[in-house]
Amino acid sequence: MILVFGGAGYIGSHTVKHLLDNGYQVVVADNLIYGHREAVDKRAVFEHADLLDKFSLQQLFRKHKIDAVIHFAAFAYVGESVAEPQKYYFNNVVGTVNLLNVMMENNVKDIVFSSTCATYGEPEYTPIDELHPQNPINPYGRTKLMIEQIFADYERAYGLRHIALRYFNAAGCAANGSIGESHTPETHLIPLVLKAITGERKSISVFGTDYDTPDGTCIRDYIHVEDLALAHRLALEKLPVYSGCINLGTGIGTSVKEIILAAEEVSGKKCPVEYADRRAGDPARLFADNRKAKEILGWEPAYKNIKDIIQTAWNWEINRRF
Ligand code: UDP
Repeated sequence: MILVFGGAGYIGSHTVKHLLDNGYQVVVADNLIYGHREAVDKRAVFEHADLLDKFSLQQLFRKHKIDAVIHFAAFAYVGESVAEPQKYYFNNVVGTVNLLNVMMENNVKDIVFSSTCATYGEPEYTPIDELHPQNPINPYGRTKLMIEQIFADYERAYGLRHIALRYFNAAGCAANGSIGESHTPETHLIPLVLKAITGERKSISVFGTDYDTPDGTCIRDYIHVEDLALAHRLALEKLPVYSGCINLGTGIGTSVKEIILAAEEVSGKKCPVEYADRRAGDPARLFADNRKAKEILGWEPAYKNIKDIIQTAWNWEINRRF
C-alpha cells in the first residue's frame, strides 16, 4: 500500500490517479486545507490527517500496512512564505520530521518527495542540473532544501531511502478531463491566462518586459502534471537501489509572451494583457537539465509542446468540477 500525503492537491491527485491506473493500492492522506476531496480518485482510500498531528499519523500507520510514502503535503506560496515564515517552517519542516519519525517507528524506509527548482535560487547557469549550487532566496525554497538535507541525515542514521523530485513549473491537467488545477488563490501563469481568456478575470498582468530574454519576458520550463505523476511512480520503483535528488522539467524554456500566444491559439480567443513591473524574486530564465531523470528513472516527458500542455489546461478550465 502506498501512502500519498497531500494526495488531494494538484500534483498529488494526478499521481494518485496514475498509481491506481498502474495497479497500485493507494491511501490518500490530506488535511484538505488546500486540497480538494473531489480530486481524490474514488478507487483510493481517503484519510483526513495532518502532518502536525503526530497522533493522527500514528493511527494512519497502524490502520494501513504502508510500504512506501509519497509526500506532497506543503504550503507552497512563495510570497506568503516571506510574510509568514513560521507557518512554512512549522508545516513544511516540522510536519515532514513528524512524518519521517512515524515512518521510522513503523519501519517504513521509502519516501518520494516533492521538491522544487526553487531550492536553486538565482541560477548561475542554465540549463540547471542537480549539481547547481542550492541557495534558495525565500523561506518556501529553504523549507524544501532543509527537508532534502534532513533526508540525507536520516539515510545515514536510519537507512531512509529517498528521492526528492525537483519540479520546474507544473502545468496542464489530466488528459481525460477528470481532474485539474484548482488553487485558491490562483497565482500561476497558465490558469490565470486562461481565466483572462474566459473573462473570469479582467486581464493577465505580465510581470516584467525588460528581462534579458529574446522577447523581454521571463522564461520557465513548463512540465505536464501527468509527466510528473509518471516520474513519481518510476521513482517509487527505483527507491530500493537509489537515493538522491532529480530534476523534473522538459528542458525547454517558454516565455510569458509565448504562453499567452499559445493559449490564444488553443482557445481561439484573445487574451486581455496588461504590462506590469517585475515581480520580486523572479529570475529571467529557469529551465532544467533533465538528463538525470532520463538516466536514473528511464523517464521521458510525453508532453514537449506547450500548446499540447495548455490544451489540457483549457479543457479543464472550461469544464471544471472543482
Ligand atoms: N507571471 C506573470 N503574471 C502572473 C503570474 C506569473 O507574468 O500573473 C510570470 C512570472 O513572473 C514567471 C512566470 O509567469 O515568470 C511563471 O510564474 P508562476 O507564478 O506560474 O510560477 P513560478 O515560476 O513563480 O513558480
